[in-house]
Amino acid sequence: MTKVLKFGGTSVGSAANMKRVAEIIRHEKARITVLSAMSGTTDALVRIVTAAAEKDQSTIDDRIAMLTDKYTTCIEGLLDQHKQEALNRMQATFDLIRTETSNFREYTSERKIIAQGELLTSAIFTLYLNETGTKAVCLNSPDFMVTDQEGKVDMARICKALAPVAADPDTFYVAQGFICSNYKGEIDNLGRGGSDYSAALMGAAIGASEVQIWTDIDGMHNNDPRFVEHTYPIRNMSFDEAAELAYFGAKILHPATIQPCKDKCIPVLLKNTMDPHAPGTTISNCDDNSKSFHAVAAKDGITVIRIHSARMLMAYGFLRKVFEIFEQYRTPIDMITTSEVAVSLTVDSDKHLDEIVAELEKLGTIEIERNNSIVCVVGRMEHGDAGLAARVFESIRKIPIKMISYGASHRSLAILIATEQKKQTLQSLNDGLFQ
Ligand code: ADP
Ligand code: ASP
Ligand code: MG
Repeated sequence: MTKVLKFGGTSVGSAANMKRVAEIIRHEKARITVLSAMSGTTDALVRIVTAAAEKDQSTIDDRIAMLTDKYTTCIEGLLDQHKQEALNRMQATFDLIRTETSNFREYTSERKIIAQGELLTSAIFTLYLNETGTKAVCLNSPDFMVTDQEGKVDMARICKALAPVAADPDTFYVAQGFICSNYKGEIDNLGRGGSDYSAALMGAAIGASEVQIWTDIDGMHNNDPRFVEHTYPIRNMSFDEAAELAYFGAKILHPATIQPCKDKCIPVLLKNTMDPHAPGTTISNCDDNSKSFHAVAAKDGITVIRIHSARMLMAYGFLRKVFEIFEQYRTPIDMITTSEVAVSLTVDSDKHLDEIVAELEKLGTIEIERNNSIVCVVGRMEHGDAGLAARVFESIRKIPIKMISYGASHRSLAILIATEQKKQTLQSLNDGLFQ
């Protein structure tokens, strides 16, 4: 069994937790251990970046002091012979961050600073493994995780670079999640929460038998535990369901994680570092057909674009013109509903909204509505089944609904609501569909 194990920020958030992680990877015989930065690090680094852009030296000093404290405590609780080496490594990291903030270059410095959390955490953890008698090597992920101009990862390159790792069962390899190199050869990242995706790519590249994502909760829950009471973990889930939930806001998984594993039929296990014996969730090809409703997730930051146009009436080719505009600005559409005189679309990025609206105005009258959330109910909703949509809407009869998407697949039903109604919607669905 060749396994890739990934540990999130909380899992490596203290010396005590890093010790747990070491026990888990030894027990699981992890070939590659992919690590996030210690919890709170990336947020602090992002804050340092904004402060550097604003020339706000006191915030920079403040965050570096906080991080120095955090990493020093961790190193002192973890290491003995290698303590000084780790402290020197930490010092070098903060010196580099200071240099980058004083010669701040917008994109380059930002990406370089944000990468330091994963680099430092993985270096400390590798020292700990070696100090405690486990032969370990720290890989430098940006050497082999390389993206092209579109941000797509070069899979062939990862496969080639990791071939010796795949063939070496005697060493524990540690790698940074999240970080990569871009097409210019500069250090970059895969987006917030991207360590899950790094692990999936490395797992697919070495033909792993399993990818395990270790975090601070016992698997994928049926609803968002940050907003809803009485959620429970789901034991088995299909790749498609997990991908849908991750895409629609289940924070436990980065949305891109599932595809590389699905392509290679590699099961993805979601496990709890604080309770390693809990079964967690297994995501695989197998389907649980016993229930109509499996889980709910919500995605915020959704903007609705409504296009009113009499030109749609009995016409063809109208939607093509609309879609071409979104394609031109590389903006994906999440939901769409149409009537004879109007089309409503949703997007999760406002990046090119002004340009898109300017183009769409040539086709009709445009209305924009911000601060919405998509709530997605995932399950087995066969087109021949009666009453399933009715159960969903019965549960949330008091919530104003702005859009509905149902029937695209038999796996999901999505609704659009105002974000201020999200918590109540999620709780009502939990009470109505799962209790
Ligand atoms: P890590 O730092 O380990 O990557 P994350 O914070 O990214 O951890 O993801 C784990 C968190 O995801 C949980 O603590 C939980 O609050 C949140 N979460 C949101 N939706 C779900 C869900 N459906 N099931 C489980 N956890 C969820
Ligand atoms: N450390 C990064 C973040 O906080 C990546 C990750 O945790 O997956 O977004
Ligand atoms: Mg995460």
